[in-house]
Amino acid sequence: MNAVSRRSALKAGLAGAALAAPAVASAQQTFNWKMTSAYGKGAPFYMDGPGSATDLAKRIDAMSGGRLKIQVFGAGELVPAFEGFDAVRAGTVEMNHANSYFWTGKTAAAQYFTAVPFGMNFQGMNGWFYDGGGLELWNEVYAPFGMIALPCGNTGVQMTGWFKKEITSVADLKGLKMRIPGLAGKVYASLGVDVKVLPGGEIFPALERGVIDAAEFVGPFQDRRLGLHKAAKFYHTTGWHEPATVSELLINKAAWMKLPKDLQAIVENASAACNVISEAWCQKHNSEAMEDLIKNQGVTAKPLPDAVIKALRAETDKVLAEAVAKDPMTKKVHESYMAFKAKYDRWSEVSEEAYHIKVRG
Ligand code: CA
Repeated sequence: MNAVSRRSALKAGLAGAALAAPAVASAQQTFNWKMTSAYGKGAPFYMDGPGSATDLAKRIDAMSGGRLKIQVFGAGELVPAFEGFDAVRAGTVEMNHANSYFWTGKTAAAQYFTAVPFGMNFQGMNGWFYDGGGLELWNEVYAPFGMIALPCGNTGVQMTGWFKKEITSVADLKGLKMRIPGLAGKVYASLGVDVKVLPGGEIFPALERGVIDAAEFVGPFQDRRLGLHKAAKFYHTTGWHEPATVSELLINKAAWMKLPKDLQAIVENASAACNVISEAWCQKHNSEAMEDLIKNQGVTAKPLPDAVIKALRAETDKVLAEAVAKDPMTKKVHESYMAFKAKYDRWSEVSEEAYHIKVRG
C-alpha cells in the first residue's frame, strides 16, 4: 500500500468511525410501540402463554434491555379483530399479531403464508420460510402496503372442526352453515357449504344458537376453551385445511427502518423463538385436551370419510388454479410454495413420514 492509499484508507476509517457515532447514540434510543391482535385478550397461544403475542413483547423487552417496549392490545381493545392490517398500514400501530389469511381480501397471495389446504406441515413451512425463499416472498407481497412480516407462531396441524351432525358423505356438506376462514372456506363453498367468517370469540354463541351448524377454530385445547364441544359433539380430526397454521407478526416498514440493526435482530430472533415455542406448547396442551374431550366430555372424534377428503382435494386444486390465474403475485408465490413442497414431500416420505408410519409403529 502506498502513502496515498494508506491516507485514504485512514480517512475512510475515520469517516466510518464518524458515521458510527450517531449509530451508538441511536442505540441508546428507546422505542414505544403498539401491537394489536386478531384474538381477544387472554386467548391462550395467541395472547397468553409461551410463544404468544404478550410473550413475544416480553422477550423483546428483555433482550433489548427495555429499549423496545411493545404494548399489546387484544382484538377490540384498540381496533376490531380484522382491522390490524389497515392499522399497521396506516401506522396507527407498528405491529399486528394475527394470521395472514385474514388479509386475502387485500392481497390474495397472503393465504400461502398461513396455511394451504393439503399443503406443508410445520417443518416444511419453516423450511420454505427460512431457507426456501418464503420469507422474501412474503415481504414482496406486502411491499406495496409498506409492511413486512415474520412467522411468530404455529398451531401445528389443526382439526377439521365441530359438527352438530357427523359428516358421512359429500352430500352432507350441502347447505351446511360453517365458520371457516381462508381458502378452505372457498373450497367448502364450492361443495355447497354456506361459509361464515367469524372472529374466535363469536364462534361459540353462533354454534350454540344454531346460526351455524359447524365450525373450525384451532385444535383441542383452544376449541375446548371456547366451549365448542358443548354446542356440537362430532369432532372431525386431522385438518386437511390447515396443516400448520402460521401466526403472523405484521410490521410497519417505515417504523421498522427506524429501528437500529440490533433491535431489528432482536425482533427477528424473538419471533423465531416464539414460532418454535408456541408450537411446542400446542403439542403438550392438545394431547391432554384431546384425551379429556373423548374420555370425559362425550365427544366423538373421527377423521372425515375418504370420499369427502378426495372431493375436498379436487376442489382445492380447482380453487388454487383459479387464484393463480387471477393474480400474478399469487402465481409467483404458488410456484415457489409448490416447488418447495414437491421436494420436501419426497424427502419427508423417506424421513419424517416413514418414521411415523413404518418405523415407530
Ligand atoms: Ca383454524
